[in-house]
Amino acid sequence: MTAAPASQTTAKDVLAPRTTELEFGGFAGALFISTTVPLTAYYFALGCNDVLGCALSLPVSNTDAFVDYVRENLATSFTDGTAWAFYTGWYLYCVLAWYILPGKWVKGLPLRTGRQLEYKTNALATGLVALAAAVGYIIVYGPASSTILYDHWLGLLSVALVNSIAQALYVYVASFSGHKLLALGGNTGNVVYDWFIGRELNPRIGLFDIKTFNELRPGLILWVLVDASCACWQHTQFGYVSDSMWLVLFFHTWYVVDSLLHEETIFSQMDITTDGFGFMLSVGDLVWVPFTYSLQARYLAFEPVHLGAIGVLAIMAVQLIGYYIFRTANVEKNDFRQGHNPKNLQFMTTSTGRKLLVSGWWGVSRHPNYLGDWLMAWAWCLTCGFGSPIPYFYVVYFAILLVHRQLRDDEACKKKYGADWDTYCKRVPYRIIPYIY
Ligand code: NDP
Repeated sequence: MTAAPASQTTAKDVLAPRTTELEFGGFAGALFISTTVPLTAYYFALGCNDVLGCALSLPVSNTDAFVDYVRENLATSFTDGTAWAFYTGWYLYCVLAWYILPGKWVKGLPLRTGRQLEYKTNALATGLVALAAAVGYIIVYGPASSTILYDHWLGLLSVALVNSIAQALYVYVASFSGHKLLALGGNTGNVVYDWFIGRELNPRIGLFDIKTFNELRPGLILWVLVDASCACWQHTQFGYVSDSMWLVLFFHTWYVVDSLLHEETIFSQMDITTDGFGFMLSVGDLVWVPFTYSLQARYLAFEPVHLGAIGVLAIMAVQLIGYYIFRTANVEKNDFRQGHNPKNLQFMTTSTGRKLLVSGWWGVSRHPNYLGDWLMAWAWCLTCGFGSPIPYFYVVYFAILLVHRQLRDDEACKKKYGADWDTYCKRVPYRIIPYIY
């Protein structure tokens, strides 16, 4: 196929080229993921709780109890007034905080039109105000009055799901008005696939950027609030907060605050630069993150695990090693991409003029940051001991996500850098884990 001469290239070719290569298993994959993501989140809520316990075999070994529980709780979760009121208030707070709280305006990477969007960076302020308010509330009213998120888990999950579907529909429909810049992967013409993957690259209402807002605020911060509610529930039931619960609370809060603190780094991530905003990101941000990433805290709420000093120290060591790799690798690359090289790392120059690091962490594997992230996932799961495999879901799921992401990114880099990428791969042969993968 020959490309149209430059003079014949229309605005439509630049803004809205037709997508021909499908990802995520194409149409069938989009449909599959769109249904299994919410179903999995519901499975954990319905099949891992203080009434039925948390056994992998639950739906089969205790089918009647499971079916009764589902029948009693699932449909009513969509009409849970408290959940609707809380979630609406929470979401409005996040929007209001974006407008009101001070934040630096930062330019994103150049789009393929050459334009650079500006983003208001006040996610950290939004998170800190919310966390301070939550801590204040717990101190004033006590843990027993602070279990609303745990008590209304299913209701909140259902409202968040409705919100994620509504947002995905809104951005899908809005992507057809005016001359919008579409994601290269989101314009197949198939409604289900495009709605899932995201048609428009940067849907906005004025300066309010819907994608980055959802990525870092309403779901991510809510995750920590959900965790805190689990700790309060444990305290209410058992009269203490176990060392394992404190660790989970600490690790998750650390991860979230760290992401908010480094808000600017997301502007160069695949989600922002390449993917459109569709159901995949909206359900991921709003449902998946707060209600499945908090699974360890949910489990520990009714199955307290006592790790003891040695257990705590050992798990802390895994977390620290993971974090060290994760953060230093990301900082090395971000510094380098911003034109700094404080460690004097070696690099190769590609024919595009862009450079690739070949020493430091990026000389150890092609995605050292994923390795650090995955080690942290282990630390979180280990806090739950070995009573049930369900809290280990996170480490398994995260491995799949990271491997899939690595494959997508390597393919994109191969397209970007051609033969130079092959040279880099020869020089740095391991994809994520040195000597293993
Ligand atoms: P990366 O931060 O790994 O960025 C990949 C990009 O880095 C490539 O496309 C390339 O872009 C650039 N790059 C690759 N190799 C080199 C090199 N040797 N030297 C310089 N630049 C290089 O990708 P992600 O956006 O996937 O991940 C960002 C962070 O987010 C990670 O730490 C990850 O663990 C985390 N994450 C967490 C998730 C969660 O749910 N908790 C989900 C997904 C990610 P270019 O050359 O164009 O600059």
